[in-house]
Amino acid sequence: MEVFDFSKIKSIFLDMDGVLWNGKNPIGNTRDIFTKLDQADIFPVFITNNSTRTPESYQEKMAGFGVKIKPDQVITPAVAASYLFKKNYSKDVRIYVFGSQALKDYLKREGFTLSDEKADIVLVSLDQEMTYQKVATAMHLINEGAIFYATNRDHILASENGWLPGGGVMVSAVETCTQKKPIVIGKPQPYMIEIAMEKFGLDKSEVVAVGDRYDTDIIGGINAGCHTVMVLSGVDTKESVSSFQKQPTLICKDLEEFAEILIRQKNNLDPINRTDKL
Ligand SMILES: [Mg+2]
Repeated sequence: MEVFDFSKIKSIFLDMDGVLWNGKNPIGNTRDIFTKLDQADIFPVFITNNSTRTPESYQEKMAGFGVKIKPDQVITPAVAASYLFKKNYSKDVRIYVFGSQALKDYLKREGFTLSDEKADIVLVSLDQEMTYQKVATAMHLINEGAIFYATNRDHILASENGWLPGGGVMVSAVETCTQKKPIVIGKPQPYMIEIAMEKFGLDKSEVVAVGDRYDTDIIGGINAGCHTVMVLSGVDTKESVSSFQKQPTLICKDLEEFAEILIRQKNNLDPINRTDKL
């Protein structure tokens, strides 16, 4: 099987849930994978639609798997929202967050004013303490003219106990009662990938977006003009994506297999035989 030449790649933009771990369980030997990537001079950036955790908490989680990263290598919808709001609104903009405490804390730390009255922006995200009242507040504010943003539309998310409802559930609730569509910040929109490329001075030809989910990670990568690798360690399967016209650049069993291909190509080693691996 002919494999795309990834030897010019400088950075991999990694989705996390379903790529690095499922819930609390790591996928493969995380420490070994990142040591090898580092030796091959591949810079990892972490891009997730999950807005319930801060970049620092991902740094801690990776440290738990024996991998040292910096918080600024992590792009969450909270990071991207802050970037977009600073770019597009004055700094006294008022935001109502229907989402996690981590998202609220992050935006507060970035200097934004959070309020459930007279808000200019309503930002909807995964909220594990969703209530009828929060949906009603979002509805009233949007009906009064606030701009409706959503971190993502993920319908489900992985946990160590199986699938759970995703942030798309909260977004749909607000959409249903307002009859308005949100501006979506997370994947498959290209914003987080574009922000990461700008931040680290990378060209799209030097980046591979890696993810387990076709409708967000792979389409997000394609929308940003990057190469894409789909791993089969999470949501999607070879069968679930086979009928789509736009295909990922490569499909791998897991991140470990892709890292191996990448490193061998960068070091001009013989390719591994993948036929029995997929
Ligand atoms: Mg994922």
